[in-house]
Amino acid sequence: MRRLFIVLGDQLDRESLIFKHADLATDHFWMAEVAEESTHVWSHKQRIALFLSAMRHFADELQAKDYPLTYLPLDEHEFASLGEALSDFLASHKPEEVWLVKPGNYRVFKQLADTCKQYDTPIKQLHDQHFLSTPAEFKTWAGNKKQLRLEYWYRQLRKQYQVLMQDEKTPEGGKWNYDQSNRKSFGKNGPQDIPEPIEWPADGITEQVIALVNERFPKHPGELEQLQWPVTPEQAEQALNRFLDKALPQFGDFQDAMWTDEPFLNHSLIASSLNLKLLHPLHVIQQAEQRYRDEAAPLAAVEGFIRQILGWREYVRGLYWLHMPEWLEMNALDAHQDLPAFYWTGDTSMTCLSESIGQTLKHGYAHHIQRLMVTGLFALLYGVEPKQVHEWYLAVYVDAVEWVELPNTLGMSQYADNGIMASKPYAASGQYINRMSNYCKQCKFNPALAVGEKACPITTLYWDFLDTHRERLQANPRMGFMMKNLEAKSGEDIAAIKAQALEFRELHQKT
Ligand code: FAD
Ligand code: SF4
Repeated sequence: MRRLFIVLGDQLDRESLIFKHADLATDHFWMAEVAEESTHVWSHKQRIALFLSAMRHFADELQAKDYPLTYLPLDEHEFASLGEALSDFLASHKPEEVWLVKPGNYRVFKQLADTCKQYDTPIKQLHDQHFLSTPAEFKTWAGNKKQLRLEYWYRQLRKQYQVLMQDEKTPEGGKWNYDQSNRKSFGKNGPQDIPEPIEWPADGITEQVIALVNERFPKHPGELEQLQWPVTPEQAEQALNRFLDKALPQFGDFQDAMWTDEPFLNHSLIASSLNLKLLHPLHVIQQAEQRYRDEAAPLAAVEGFIRQILGWREYVRGLYWLHMPEWLEMNALDAHQDLPAFYWTGDTSMTCLSESIGQTLKHGYAHHIQRLMVTGLFALLYGVEPKQVHEWYLAVYVDAVEWVELPNTLGMSQYADNGIMASKPYAASGQYINRMSNYCKQCKFNPALAVGEKACPITTLYWDFLDTHRERLQANPRMGFMMKNLEAKSGEDIAAIKAQALEFRELHQKT
């Protein structure tokens, strides 16, 4: 055997560079389902089933094309980890080299590289053509810049790929960014005409996987009667078209809005398909741009959507490879509380949290603002140890892969990196949630109050957070407005807030 090509569970790219290199007479493909990938964080059942079903569909296609493939199903071997399974294969087959597309997880790459080292087998990484930039390009762009702001990286890629451009240098409509028009909340009547997500009936492969996951991981979070997420490129394309036809025109305006019992709103629901490499990001971007050119969707909505994929998605990947493995250990705000137990049950009287966590446990999904400004916000203000927050996000979302989850969690949401990613902590009181949703109307707490029986815990913890980190935050010009409001509070007010915050923490530590 000359080369062994490893295909990982989030590398199900039918156009992968490995196929361009493979010589089917001498090379061999290898895929393995191992328990560790579902248990190193306590993975949601939908997430486990999605990966396994999508992998098995991919493997079936390779086998139908007569590719030489070793596939290890979870229930047919005893290897606990990818490293163990690979070690066994290297010992018995002795390939000259191991090749793989750059993994999306530092831990996995290290484990595979260490295993190859034990057998003196060279390991070669190929560019993942499912991204529009490489970590090396990002590093060059980063150079000695003091701050790496998304906006400039995004503009560079817009020009490079000529996306939404009037001419080579001018953005469509004369503006690069329509973020300001993407922050509306729903009116009194709530969201209107929200399109239903597609439901795909389970085929034989998915049925087997559902049974396996329910049997093997019964105590893991989440529900799994039916798998709700695309497992093939064809299904992923249908999910994309559902979004482009029915939700994209509204996506911009209400991108940040939330509403009770509306888990999906106008979001695209394609992150898991992008991350498993069932959908190519450039295809998604070009299809969205075409809707604008056809006058089927407004510029602000299309730009807002494209910014997420061409901007945020590429930017967080660049940052991940620039700062791993140190990022995982950072804890700039010195936060040491345990993650409250209700993150695994949704059982809390804070409506914003019970809604966001409840839908997460049901579907393996919450949209960006629910992740950033509800579950993430609470963890930041409460002072949860960042690693525990990271492990929760990596476990509970169907689209969670470390290269994208970690920067969003430790950087954007928890400020554990002291500003590598965000120029200030995403701190807010319950009033922000009240503005962007109807959650507070259904809650026993009042977002305007920081002390007393009806006080909103998020508002209490917000003032407590500003006071606890007063010195650090005062030095940040972007926190000026918030810190001025803190300064306006009397010593007595602050003491009452801190006493209430302490009581709240003590109560939750006991549960
Ligand atoms: P839409 O709202 O329709 O957005 C379109 C696409 O843009 C997404 O599918 C996604 O590919 C991309 N995108 C949007 N925001 C971001 C972002 N901040 N970073 C990178 N890509 C983005 N996204 C993941 O794909 N996997 C994760 O594990 C993940 N963890 C997150 C953890 C936290 C704490 C936060 C705040 C955000 C996280 N995100 C993650 C980003 C974002 O919340 C999800 O991509 C999005 O909610 C997925 O839903 P959607 O497909 O309906 O996206
Ligand atoms: Fe959340 Fe506070 Fe609003 Fe209740 S009042 S929903 S806890 S923000």
